[in-house]
Amino acid sequence: MNFKMAEKINPIIKKLKLMVLLSIALIIFSLVVQQRYALACESLPLLGMVELQPDIYVSNEVPVSAYAGLITELEIARARIQNTFGSQRTAARLLITATESSANRWGANDTASMHRSPWNSCVVLGPKGQNANVIAHELLHIEMQERVGFFRFMLNVPIWFDEGAALMVDYREPLLLHNIHLTEQQVSAVKQLDNSAKFFAGNQMHNYQAARMVTERLINKNQFFADLERIASGEKFSDVFSETAD
Ligand SMILES: [Zn+2]
Repeated sequence: MNFKMAEKINPIIKKLKLMVLLSIALIIFSLVVQQRYALACESLPLLGMVELQPDIYVSNEVPVSAYAGLITELEIARARIQNTFGSQRTAARLLITATESSANRWGANDTASMHRSPWNSCVVLGPKGQNANVIAHELLHIEMQERVGFFRFMLNVPIWFDEGAALMVDYREPLLLHNIHLTEQQVSAVKQLDNSAKFFAGNQMHNYQAARMVTERLINKNQFFADLERIASGEKFSDVFSETAD
Protein backbone atom coordinates (compact mmCIF):
# COMPACT_ATOMS: atom_id res chain seq x y z
CA MET A 1 0.00 0.00 0.00
CA ASN A 2 1.45 3.35 -0.91
CA PHE A 3 1.44 6.39 1.38
CA LYS A 4 -1.50 8.10 -0.35
CA MET A 5 -3.75 5.03 -0.04
CA ALA A 6 -2.94 4.67 3.67
CA GLU A 7 -3.81 8.33 4.15
CA LYS A 8 -7.26 7.68 2.62
CA ILE A 9 -8.00 4.45 4.55
CA ASN A 10 -6.99 5.67 8.02
CA PRO A 11 -9.95 8.06 8.49
CA ILE A 12 -12.32 5.30 7.31
CA ILE A 13 -10.92 2.88 9.91
CA LYS A 14 -11.20 5.58 12.58
CA LYS A 15 -14.85 6.17 11.63
CA LEU A 16 -15.57 2.44 11.68
CA LYS A 17 -13.97 2.08 15.14
CA LEU A 18 -16.05 4.99 16.42
CA MET A 19 -19.24 3.46 15.00
CA VAL A 20 -18.48 0.09 16.62
CA LEU A 21 -17.77 1.76 19.98
CA LEU A 22 -20.95 3.83 19.74
CA SER A 23 -23.00 0.72 18.89
CA ILE A 24 -21.55 -1.17 21.86
CA ALA A 25 -22.28 1.81 24.14
CA LEU A 26 -25.85 1.97 22.80
CA ILE A 27 -26.41 -1.77 23.40
CA ILE A 28 -25.06 -1.49 26.97
CA PHE A 29 -27.20 1.60 27.60
CA SER A 30 -30.41 -0.05 26.35
CA LEU A 31 -29.69 -3.20 28.37
CA VAL A 32 -29.24 -1.10 31.51
CA VAL A 33 -32.47 0.81 30.77
CA GLN A 34 -34.34 -2.44 30.11
CA GLN A 35 -32.96 -4.07 33.22
CA ARG A 36 -33.01 -1.01 35.49
CA TYR A 37 -35.70 -2.35 37.80
CA ALA A 38 -34.08 -5.76 37.98
CA LEU A 39 -30.82 -3.98 38.82
CA ALA A 40 -32.63 -1.86 41.41
CA CYS A 41 -33.96 -5.07 42.98
CA GLU A 42 -30.36 -6.10 43.49
CA SER A 43 -29.89 -3.08 45.74
CA LEU A 44 -32.74 -3.98 48.13
CA PRO A 45 -30.47 -5.52 50.79
CA LEU A 46 -28.46 -2.29 50.86
CA LEU A 47 -31.37 0.11 51.32
CA GLY A 48 -32.11 -0.60 54.95
CA MET A 49 -35.60 -1.93 54.25
CA VAL A 50 -37.25 -4.34 56.63
CA GLU A 51 -36.62 -7.94 55.55
CA LEU A 52 -39.79 -9.69 56.59
CA GLN A 53 -38.39 -13.11 55.68
CA PRO A 54 -35.22 -14.02 53.75
CA ASP A 55 -35.36 -12.00 50.50
CA ILE A 56 -38.85 -10.63 51.25
CA TYR A 57 -38.56 -6.85 51.68
CA VAL A 58 -41.21 -4.34 52.70
CA SER A 59 -41.21 -0.75 51.58
CA ASN A 60 -41.12 1.92 54.30
CA GLU A 61 -44.74 2.95 53.89
CA VAL A 62 -46.03 -0.53 54.79
CA PRO A 63 -47.30 -0.27 58.40
CA VAL A 64 -45.79 -2.66 60.93
CA SER A 65 -49.33 -3.76 61.78
CA ALA A 66 -49.58 -5.30 58.27
CA TYR A 67 -46.51 -7.54 58.64
CA ALA A 68 -48.20 -10.53 60.29
CA GLY A 69 -50.98 -10.58 57.68
CA LEU A 70 -48.45 -10.45 54.86
CA ILE A 71 -46.52 -13.39 56.31
CA THR A 72 -49.77 -15.36 56.49
CA GLU A 73 -50.55 -14.61 52.81
CA LEU A 74 -47.02 -15.63 51.82
CA GLU A 75 -47.37 -18.92 53.68
CA ILE A 76 -50.75 -19.63 52.07
CA ALA A 77 -49.27 -18.89 48.62
CA ARG A 78 -46.26 -21.18 49.12
CA ALA A 79 -48.42 -23.98 50.50
CA ARG A 80 -50.76 -23.68 47.52
CA ILE A 81 -47.90 -24.11 45.05
CA GLN A 82 -46.55 -27.02 47.09
CA ASN A 83 -49.94 -28.74 47.11
CA THR A 84 -50.55 -28.14 43.40
CA PHE A 85 -47.16 -28.77 41.81
CA GLY A 86 -44.72 -29.87 44.52
CA SER A 87 -41.75 -28.24 46.24
CA GLN A 88 -40.44 -24.91 45.04
CA ARG A 89 -36.75 -24.66 44.42
CA THR A 90 -36.49 -20.90 44.21
CA ALA A 91 -36.27 -18.48 47.09
CA ALA A 92 -37.89 -15.58 45.25
CA ARG A 93 -37.03 -11.97 45.96
CA LEU A 94 -40.10 -9.86 46.65
CA LEU A 95 -40.61 -6.19 47.42
CA ILE A 96 -43.97 -5.38 48.99
CA THR A 97 -45.25 -1.83 48.55
CA ALA A 98 -48.41 -0.27 49.97
CA THR A 99 -49.17 2.59 47.58
CA GLU A 100 -49.54 2.86 43.83
CA SER A 101 -46.87 5.57 43.63
CA SER A 102 -44.39 3.43 45.57
CA ALA A 103 -45.13 0.46 43.28
CA ASN A 104 -44.70 2.71 40.22
CA ARG A 105 -41.33 3.91 41.49
CA TRP A 106 -40.19 0.28 41.38
CA GLY A 107 -41.59 -0.26 37.90
CA ALA A 108 -44.74 -2.08 38.99
CA ASN A 109 -48.47 -1.52 38.55
CA ASP A 110 -50.82 -1.43 41.54
CA THR A 111 -51.15 -5.24 41.58
CA ALA A 112 -47.75 -6.78 40.80
CA SER A 113 -44.94 -6.84 38.28
CA MET A 114 -42.12 -9.26 37.76
CA HIS A 115 -38.75 -7.92 36.71
CA ARG A 116 -36.99 -10.70 34.85
CA SER A 117 -33.25 -10.96 34.62
CA PRO A 118 -30.76 -13.72 33.90
CA TRP A 119 -29.29 -13.49 37.41
CA ASN A 120 -32.09 -12.95 39.92
CA SER A 121 -35.65 -12.08 38.95
CA CYS A 122 -37.78 -10.26 41.45
CA VAL A 123 -41.40 -9.32 42.01
CA VAL A 124 -42.75 -5.99 43.20
CA LEU A 125 -46.18 -6.27 44.81
CA GLY A 126 -48.46 -3.25 44.69
CA PRO A 127 -51.25 -2.39 47.15
CA LYS A 128 -53.72 -4.67 45.33
CA GLY A 129 -51.24 -7.54 45.29
CA GLN A 130 -50.92 -8.20 48.99
CA ASN A 131 -52.87 -11.44 48.95
CA ALA A 132 -52.19 -15.15 48.48
CA ASN A 133 -53.70 -15.22 44.97
CA VAL A 134 -51.34 -12.63 43.50
CA ILE A 135 -48.36 -13.83 45.53
CA ALA A 136 -48.82 -17.48 44.43
CA HIS A 137 -49.27 -16.32 40.81
CA GLU A 138 -46.03 -14.34 40.86
CA LEU A 139 -44.06 -16.97 42.78
CA LEU A 140 -45.05 -19.51 40.16
CA HIS A 141 -43.78 -17.25 37.36
CA ILE A 142 -40.44 -17.09 39.16
CA GLU A 143 -40.29 -20.83 39.77
CA MET A 144 -41.10 -21.58 36.10
CA GLN A 145 -38.33 -19.34 34.85
CA GLU A 146 -35.90 -20.84 37.35
CA ARG A 147 -36.73 -24.39 36.22
CA VAL A 148 -36.33 -23.61 32.51
CA GLY A 149 -33.50 -21.08 32.74
CA PHE A 150 -33.79 -17.42 31.72
CA PHE A 151 -32.73 -17.62 28.09
CA ARG A 152 -34.53 -20.85 27.21
CA PHE A 153 -37.59 -19.51 28.99
CA MET A 154 -37.63 -16.29 27.00
CA LEU A 155 -37.12 -18.17 23.73
CA ASN A 156 -39.33 -21.22 24.22
CA VAL A 157 -42.14 -20.68 26.70
CA PRO A 158 -45.12 -18.78 25.26
CA ILE A 159 -46.66 -15.99 27.30
CA TRP A 160 -50.12 -17.62 27.28
CA PHE A 161 -48.63 -20.75 28.85
CA ASP A 162 -46.70 -18.77 31.48
CA GLU A 163 -49.87 -16.88 32.45
CA GLY A 164 -52.17 -19.91 32.23
CA ALA A 165 -49.93 -21.92 34.56
CA ALA A 166 -49.68 -19.04 37.06
CA LEU A 167 -53.48 -18.86 37.10
CA MET A 168 -53.66 -22.47 38.28
CA VAL A 169 -52.57 -21.23 41.72
CA ASP A 170 -54.43 -17.91 41.50
CA TYR A 171 -57.99 -18.31 42.75
CA ARG A 172 -59.42 -14.92 41.80
CA GLU A 173 -63.10 -15.50 40.99
CA PRO A 174 -63.29 -14.48 37.29
CA LEU A 175 -60.35 -16.77 36.52
CA LEU A 176 -61.75 -19.95 38.04
CA LEU A 177 -62.66 -22.61 35.47
CA HIS A 178 -66.36 -22.68 36.40
CA ASN A 179 -66.59 -18.93 35.82
CA ILE A 180 -65.05 -19.02 32.35
CA HIS A 181 -67.51 -19.16 29.48
CA LEU A 182 -65.55 -18.95 26.24
CA THR A 183 -66.08 -20.82 23.00
CA GLU A 184 -63.57 -23.44 21.89
CA GLN A 185 -62.52 -21.06 19.14
CA GLN A 186 -61.82 -18.24 21.64
CA VAL A 187 -59.83 -20.65 23.83
CA SER A 188 -57.59 -21.94 21.02
CA ALA A 189 -57.11 -18.45 19.60
CA VAL A 190 -55.04 -17.49 22.64
CA LYS A 191 -52.19 -19.60 21.25
CA GLN A 192 -51.75 -16.96 18.55
CA LEU A 193 -50.93 -14.36 21.25
CA ASP A 194 -47.32 -15.44 21.45
CA ASN A 195 -45.73 -12.30 22.86
CA SER A 196 -46.48 -9.82 25.66
CA ALA A 197 -47.54 -7.03 23.30
CA LYS A 198 -50.25 -9.26 21.82
CA PHE A 199 -51.30 -10.92 25.09
CA PHE A 200 -51.58 -7.74 27.16
CA ALA A 201 -53.81 -6.02 24.62
CA GLY A 202 -57.49 -6.06 23.70
CA ASN A 203 -59.77 -7.91 26.11
CA GLN A 204 -57.12 -8.96 28.62
CA MET A 205 -59.56 -10.77 30.91
CA HIS A 206 -60.57 -12.99 27.96
CA ASN A 207 -56.91 -13.62 27.19
CA TYR A 208 -56.21 -14.68 30.79
CA GLN A 209 -59.32 -16.86 30.88
CA ALA A 210 -58.45 -18.53 27.56
CA ALA A 211 -54.86 -19.05 28.74
CA ARG A 212 -56.17 -20.69 31.91
CA MET A 213 -58.40 -23.04 29.88
CA VAL A 214 -55.82 -24.06 27.30
CA THR A 215 -52.99 -24.52 29.79
CA GLU A 216 -55.09 -26.73 32.04
CA ARG A 217 -55.14 -29.31 29.22
CA LEU A 218 -51.38 -29.29 28.75
CA ILE A 219 -50.10 -29.56 32.31
CA ASN A 220 -49.82 -32.73 34.32
CA LYS A 221 -49.66 -31.25 37.83
CA ASN A 222 -47.72 -34.22 39.25
CA GLN A 223 -44.80 -33.70 36.89
CA PHE A 224 -45.07 -30.05 35.92
CA PHE A 225 -41.74 -28.93 37.41
CA ALA A 226 -39.95 -32.00 36.00
CA ASP A 227 -41.48 -31.27 32.58
CA LEU A 228 -40.19 -27.70 32.69
CA GLU A 229 -36.74 -29.11 33.35
CA ARG A 230 -37.00 -31.13 30.15
CA ILE A 231 -37.10 -27.79 28.30
CA ALA A 232 -34.04 -26.76 30.30
CA SER A 233 -32.35 -29.89 28.91
CA GLY A 234 -33.10 -28.83 25.34
CA GLU A 235 -36.45 -30.47 24.52
CA LYS A 236 -38.94 -28.43 22.51
CA PHE A 237 -41.83 -26.80 24.36
CA SER A 238 -44.34 -28.29 21.91
CA ASP A 239 -42.94 -31.81 22.50
CA VAL A 240 -43.09 -31.51 26.29
CA PHE A 241 -46.46 -29.80 26.57
CA SER A 242 -48.86 -31.15 23.99
CA GLU A 243 -52.44 -32.34 24.40
CA THR A 244 -51.44 -35.82 23.33
CA ALA A 245 -48.47 -36.02 25.75
CA ASP A 246 -48.92 -38.19 28.80
ZN1 LIG B 1 -48.84 -13.36 35.42
